[in-house]
Formats: sequence, structure tokens, C-alpha cells
Amino acid sequence: MSIKVCKFGGTSMADGNIMKRVADIVRSDDERRYIVVSAPGKRFSADIKVTDLLYRCAQAVKSEGSCKAVFAKIRERFLGIAKELKLNLDMKGILDEIEETIDRTGSSDYAASRGEYLSARIMAEVLGYDFIDAKDVIFFNAAGMLDERSYSVIFETFKSVKHAVIPGFYGMGADGEIKTFSRGGSDITGAVVACGAQAEVYENWTDVSGFLACDPRIVPGAKNITSLSYKELRELSYMGAGVLHSESIFPVRKANIPIRIKNTFRPEDEGTLILPSVYYKMQEHNNIVTGIAGKKNYTVLFIEKSLMNSEIGFTRKILSILEHHNLAFEHMPSGIDTLSLVIESAQLSDHLLEQVEAEINEAVHPDYMRSLENVALIATVGHGMASNVGTSARLFKALSDAEINVRMIDQGSSELNIIVGVDNADCEKCISAIYHEFFTE
Ligand code: ADP
Ligand code: ASP
Ligand code: MG
Repeated sequence: MSIKVCKFGGTSMADGNIMKRVADIVRSDDERRYIVVSAPGKRFSADIKVTDLLYRCAQAVKSEGSCKAVFAKIRERFLGIAKELKLNLDMKGILDEIEETIDRTGSSDYAASRGEYLSARIMAEVLGYDFIDAKDVIFFNAAGMLDERSYSVIFETFKSVKHAVIPGFYGMGADGEIKTFSRGGSDITGAVVACGAQAEVYENWTDVSGFLACDPRIVPGAKNITSLSYKELRELSYMGAGVLHSESIFPVRKANIPIRIKNTFRPEDEGTLILPSVYYKMQEHNNIVTGIAGKKNYTVLFIEKSLMNSEIGFTRKILSILEHHNLAFEHMPSGIDTLSLVIESAQLSDHLLEQVEAEINEAVHPDYMRSLENVALIATVGHGMASNVGTSARLFKALSDAEINVRMIDQGSSELNIIVGVDNADCEKCISAIYHEFFTE
């Protein structure tokens, strides 16, 4: 029998009722054998995610010596769920132990991981499945990256476990302590478990009916993408399409496992299928653009110098200054005599930006240099763009019709994306203008 690994996000864990719905979805298909869960998310827009409360607990230990006050909110939430589901679990005992450990260690990774741990304990009980602690099957190496050993340990563990629930988001660090992925990381756990289980498909259950052509909060009613490639997914999710963590593609790509995005609240909807590029190419695709995503708060550093192209080592000198300050850059669009560096503003304090500019001046003596802050990057992504003449002309005409000032352009060498830099304030308007150009008749 083939195996489906299913990950349910925070909105699918929000309360006892929704957890029951999740149990029904799981039970409706015998192949849904390994279930990865997130911590309970928001129940209403002003609500606070359990993970955010847990981070606050760790902060409270640092500032006040105890997490008691914040932990009371978490306690109330889980006791409420246990009551709603009439669970046969010593929820109070489990919560007491967690509170005591957070107070004793103050570890923010341990604290943050407990939302997923509790969700998984509850869902294992509801479903009558085994509980497998992520710390026993997901490992990080000394560099803080996923240890490849995780795949074989999962494979071996599952040989004797037919059905199990596994908490998302965390595993065991090289030092033997609990360690988390970055925010939204349960998507990565799901992908790692799918690869270890040699699953036929990785189902990612959330609160929207698939990957949409753009953020539905920007364009309400944005069209669903029925299928996209891993590469397109990576571009879109990295550039802000929050539905799936951008790193969740790597484990499934290793094993060519498709991802299916599904809606817990509308399980009958088809959702989105994310496929390895080779299978994807065999499908019918009429769209030129697959999707649009955007991220705010970048700083662009423009550097101009006549004949820079023939000055050996010019770019290397600039990049070594960034490296020296431990600064990552996102993009480096260049012309014959110009070069721009796009850096996440959060990495740059005022002082650091000045320092970097001074060092670049000293090292390469540019004719002109200036920095632009509050820049949003908007990525328009699609395999279809390379074979459709005039795509960029249409895109830029749409932006000029919407009176959006484009500050920077970068077309990826793969012709899979066109990235434009605009003012933060124009981000949503820009996404909406591109969407309407390519998706509305
Ligand atoms: P989960 O709790 O299931 O992990 P997330 O909140 O992380 O869910 O992701 C789902 C949300 O991502 C949606 O509710 C939607 O608002 C947002 N989103 C942003 N961009 C997109 C997109 N292109 N397609 C679908 N959803 C998107
Ligand atoms: N609960 C974690 C977070 O809020 C991980 C996840 O939901 O994927 O980031
Ligand atoms: Mg998520």
C-alpha cells in the first residue's frame, strides 16, 4: 500500500472542533499513515498563536525569572482542548512539567517546540495512533542544518509503526538539546518525514484551497494554481508566498515526491499539485505567469564606475566587504558600468550601512554610489515566460499604467522570474497590477 504523509498547519489545530475535522480527514483515507502537526494557530484575527506565546514564555524567564503569567494562557488553551475532546491524557501533568522546564532552562527553542509537542500528543490520542517524538527522528548537525541521518532513522522507525503522529518544527540539535527550524518550519518536518517514509505524496493541509497566483489578502479571489514545479514553488515561497516554507522543497526533491496543498475546511477541493520539473513539463500549461509574490524592507546599494567591467577583481572586492561584515545579499543586478546590491534591511543598522559604503569607496573608488531604503521586491514567476515574447513588455506597461515607479529590475538567468524593486508603499499595488495583467481577461 502506498503511503501519504500529511502535515496539518496551525489553523488546522486551532481548537478541538477543528482537530476532530482533521481526524475525519485522516481516517477517510487508509494511506494517510504519518501525520505531522503544527502548534495551534489563531482562532480569530486578534488571537495569539501558541508558538508566539511560548517565545514570550522564554523571554519572561529572562526578564522576570518565571514564565508563570504567560504560561497561564497556554495552559488555559490546552486544558480547553483536552476538555472539548474528552481526552484520556494527564494534560495538567504534562503542562506542569513543560512550565517547570521552561522556567529552569529558559531555552527559547525548547519553549517554542512545545506547541507542536502538545498538538501531536493530542492528535495521537484522538486518532489512536502512536506518538513519535521529533527529537528521536529529526536531527540537526553541528552547523545547525538538517542531519541526513534523519531520513534513515525515520525509514527504520516506520518499519514497525503503521500509523503515527509526529510534532513538526523541531528535532534534536548536535548538542543533544531541542532545536527548532525557522518559523513556519513544520512544513520542513513534513517534507523530511515524507522523504524518510518514501511516501507517494506529501499532503500539506492548510486554510486555503491551494497555492494561489498571489496572496489572497492582496487580491481577494486570486486564482488557484492547479500545478506548479518545485522551482516555481521555491521562487514564490522564498519571495513571500507564505503558504509553504521555502525550504520544504529540498527533502521532497531528493526523492521526487509531489506535494499536494489541501484545504482542511474544504477537503473536497482539488488543491495544488507541486511536481518535479520533469513531470511538470509533460503537463498542459497555458499560463505565461504562474504566480506573483513580494517581500518588503530591502536596501539597494547602487554603485557606478566607468569601465568597471574591465577592472579585474572589482566585484570580488565589494563582495569581500560584505563577507567581512557577515552580510548576505539577495540579488546583484549589473550593467556594464553599474552594479546594485540588494540586502535585507534588517541586517543593516544605520551605522553598518555607512561603514560598508565607506569601505566600498576606499576599495574601488566608484564614480557614484547611493543607497535606497524601504524597497519591496516583487517576483513574477513562471516557466512559460521564457517562451512567450513580450512578457516583460506587458509587465512593465502594467506597472506604468498603474503609475508605479520601478526602482530596480533583475531578470533571473533561468528566465523563470522577473524581479522588480519598488517602494514598500507600492508593494501591494504592484502585485495587484501584475496579477490583473496576466490573470484577468
Ligand atoms: P498553516 O498554519 O497551515 O501553516 P500559513 O498561515 O502558514 O498556514 O499559510 C497559509 C496562508 O498563506 C493563507 O491563509 C494565506 O493567507 C497565505 N498566503 C500568502 N500567499 C499565498 C498564496 N500565494 N497562496 C495561498 N496562500 C497564500
Ligand atoms: N508553530 C511554528 C510557527 O508558528 C511552526 C509552524 O507552524 O510551522 O512558526
Ligand atoms: Mg505555515
